[in-house]
Amino acid sequence: MKNDVVTTDVVIVGGGLAGLAAACYLARGGASVQLYEKSARLGGRRRPRPLMAII
Ligand SMILES: Cc1cc2nc3c(=O)[nH]c(=O)nc-3n(C[C@H](O)[C@H](O)[C@H](O)COP(=O)(O)OP(=O)(O)OC[C@H]3O[C@@H](n4cnc5c(N)ncnc54)[C@H](O)[C@@H]3O)c2cc1C
Repeated sequence: MKNDVVTTDVVIVGGGLAGLAAACYLARGGASVQLYEKSARLGGRRRPRPLMAII
């Protein structure tokens, strides 16, 4: 197996709200960030809903 060396300041596991927010703030602060998400979409358990379904 090939040994790939990852050079990044921060690795974030999970692209839910917490992971996305952390990645955003870290990148804004100048850090290099790699984010890994296991599912096909970002956002985690949060799902957008039509406004009328909430009211
Ligand atoms: C059942 C449930 C339903 C909810 N529905 C809503 C909603 O409809 N609307 C709303 O606004 N809020 C909703 N919430 C609240 C909302 O989910 C949370 O406030 C918010 O999503 C938490 O964000 P988080 O990043 O901490 O975790 P999560 O949203 O759980 O994100 C974690 C992420 O990490 C990923 N992950 C986990 N393990 C790995 C791994 N080994 N490798 C790579 N990626 C990994 C997951 O796939 C996921 O994307 C719900 C909460 C629950 C428990």
